[in-house]
Order: sequence, then structure tokens, then C-alpha cells
Amino acid sequence: MRIILLGPPGAGKGTQADILSDHYNIAHIATGDLLREEVDNDTALGQKAKEYMRKGELVPDSLVIKMVLKRLENPDTKNGFILDGFPRNINQARELSAGLKDKKIEIDLTVYLETSEEVIIKRLSGRRICRSCRAVYHIVNVPPKVEGVCDRCGGELYQRVDDNSQTIKKRLMVYEQETASLIDFYKGLDKLYVASGDIDAQQLFHNLTEVFGKKIAA
Ligand code: AMP
Repeated sequence: MRIILLGPPGAGKGTQADILSDHYNIAHIATGDLLREEVDNDTALGQKAKEYMRKGELVPDSLVIKMVLKRLENPDTKNGFILDGFPRNINQARELSAGLKDKKIEIDLTVYLETSEEVIIKRLSGRRICRSCRAVYHIVNVPPKVEGVCDRCGGELYQRVDDNSQTIKKRLMVYEQETASLIDFYKGLDKLYVASGDIDAQQLFHNLTEVFGKKIAA
């Protein structure tokens, strides 16, 4: 199963990708996480990406596309993968199609999580992330048992530098300008399924497994 999760920041792509990758035993490839790791490790790529990320802008395609195609070489993608946060513009989508064609594989389905701005802002402004295992919490909706501490691994919870109201606005603008057109791109390839990103994560997961089940059976 090879899936793309499409949707604005805060649509719940990361949460769904986590649950789905466990369920189907496929790799979860989140370009935001890969880039944050590069920044944390102060690599050459991380140094180049850092400022774009802080400002809520897209990191240049020349850096991101290479990173993703390399990640797709990893043996853990053999059984399938979920792309979360990639592609983010038409050029990335075209390069992805070409890269997959070279590998003689195809995307099965792109899921667009249609999400209201009200839900997005609430989710992103209350989001907290574990520094060690990257588990995602929300101060109101999914609070940890002990404030500031990850239930899963005991790691420290932090707020992303780009989860502040000004940068959230910028990221939503970038999404509208650069990423939203991918909905039509994948609709044109007859590979689009639209789901609501506003609903509860477990309910959405249940709905998506039904859709994927039909796709596998077809
Ligand atoms: P995310 O964790 O998906 O919200 O991504 C955080 C930030 O990483 C974005 O605001 C961008 O600066 C950068 N980023 C993540 N994925 C991409 C991508 N596919 N292309 C360009 N920049 C990206």
C-alpha cells in the first residue's frame, strides 16, 4: 500500500500516518520530521533548511526531493509507505511520479484531509511534541498524564517553533498558494479520496481502512 496524505498543516496527517503505518506495517515518511532531524543534528541540509522552516516557508525543492527519493530507497518501504507532508507543490509531485516510475512502483491513493480553519488553528496552537519519540499531544484534546512529559517514553514535550499564530498564518498561506493545487493534480490522475480532517482520529482511521480495504480487493 502506497499512500499520500494531503491536507493543510493541522489536518491530522501525522496522527493518521502514525496509526496507519502501524496497522499496515508500512513506512511513515514525514518530510517535516526528516527535516527537523537534520536541523537537530546540525547537518549541512539542516543548516540550509532551518530558516525556511522557522518562517513557515517551503524548503527548496532541490533539497527536499533528493531527501525523499533517498528515503524511499530504504528497505522499510518495501511493504509500502505513507507520505506525510510531501509532495507540497506540483514540481515535487511530478518529480515523485518520475522517481516512482523509475522504481516501477505507483501510488495507490492520495487522501485529502479537508479541514476547517477553526480546527486547524485550535490543533496547531495547542500541539505539543515529544523531543525523544516525536509522539504528538494536545494540551486540551490529548493531554499527557503528567504535564510536559511524554506518556510513551518519558521524554520532554515541546512546542514547535513554527506553531505560533503568526507562522501558522504563513504556513496556511503557503499551503493555499503552493500545495492546494495538488488536489486537482491527483483528482486528474483518478487517485484522490476526500475525507474530513475535522472528525475524531479513530473514526477517520476506521473510515480510511474501509476505503483501503476496497482498494486492495479491487
Ligand atoms: P510539517 O512538519 O509537515 O508541518 O513541515 C514543517 C516545515 O518543514 C514546513 O513548514 C516546511 O518549511 C518544511 N517542509 C516539510 N515538508 C516539506 C516539503 N515537502 N517541501 C518543502 N518544505 C517542506
